[in-house]
Amino acid sequence: MEVFRELAGLREQVAAARAAGREIALVPTMGALHAGHIALVEAARRPGTCVVASIFVNPKQFGANEDLSRYPRKETGDIAMLTEAGCDLLWLPPVEVMYPEGFSTNISVAGVSEGLDGAARPGHFDGVATVVAKLFNQVQPTRAYFGEKDFQQLAVIRRMVADLDFDIEVTGVPTQREDDGLALSSRNVYLDDEERAKAVALPRALGIAARAIAAGTPVEKALADATTYLANAGFEVDYVSLVDAETLQPQADATRRRQLLAAARLGATRLIDNLAVDPAG
Ligand code: AMP
Repeated sequence: MEVFRELAGLREQVAAARAAGREIALVPTMGALHAGHIALVEAARRPGTCVVASIFVNPKQFGANEDLSRYPRKETGDIAMLTEAGCDLLWLPPVEVMYPEGFSTNISVAGVSEGLDGAARPGHFDGVATVVAKLFNQVQPTRAYFGEKDFQQLAVIRRMVADLDFDIEVTGVPTQREDDGLALSSRNVYLDDEERAKAVALPRALGIAARAIAAGTPVEKALADATTYLANAGFEVDYVSLVDAETLQPQADATRRRQLLAAARLGATRLIDNLAVDPAG
């Protein structure tokens, strides 16, 4: 796997792959890789495809009081994992290559960016949309892979791709989990042993609520029960919401695909997770 830290070299290599008739698939990440990221690389790998992963801890998607400075960085291990997974190229740009002096553009996707994590983390999805648009232009893939773990992010990117006519097929990859159900996340390393043991309450609360809603429990009650369950397990709850899986608007219309989304904090660590509610019950 070749590693690029300058755009010219990356573009040259991507152009060569394209000229050789290969499709370009992009897997954007912030590094500190785990099996969730590798599932994206594996989904991207198809015959005749050049898989490009990117690792960039994007300052624009971190709020002033968030964990940018302590976000885990594991470049050597990440390179080994991507090589092992059969990734072809790695784009590892320094901050000054992504945001040189004078950088002034912001992409803001209204609607899908606004509630849930968008409300809890002002500016976060602008930062995500801006960096992903930039990565799309740098790599010019025909396919791109994102995790359903970050469900709202996936909806924001799908909306942006449609609105701005990016000729890119976006694929959402199912959330990869630990054996006990906790979604894999680079931020799980922040959890101490006690918090790690409590963290399983997050997927459990979503599972209980999803089953209850599918079985006809009123949505408000199921969401309130899930909030109580999380609080009893030691979480500070940001939100537990049921939304339309496409628009992310709050809704209880069981004829459309519905998704339960939650964000909650254990100590200083903020975890998110989500689960589909089967419309057929
Ligand atoms: P991150 O490095 O956390 O920004 O994540 C990079 C990509 O990996 C995003 O598209 C995430 O949604 C995806 N991802 C992170 N965790 C998981 C997981 N547990 N399962 C599937 N995809 C994931």
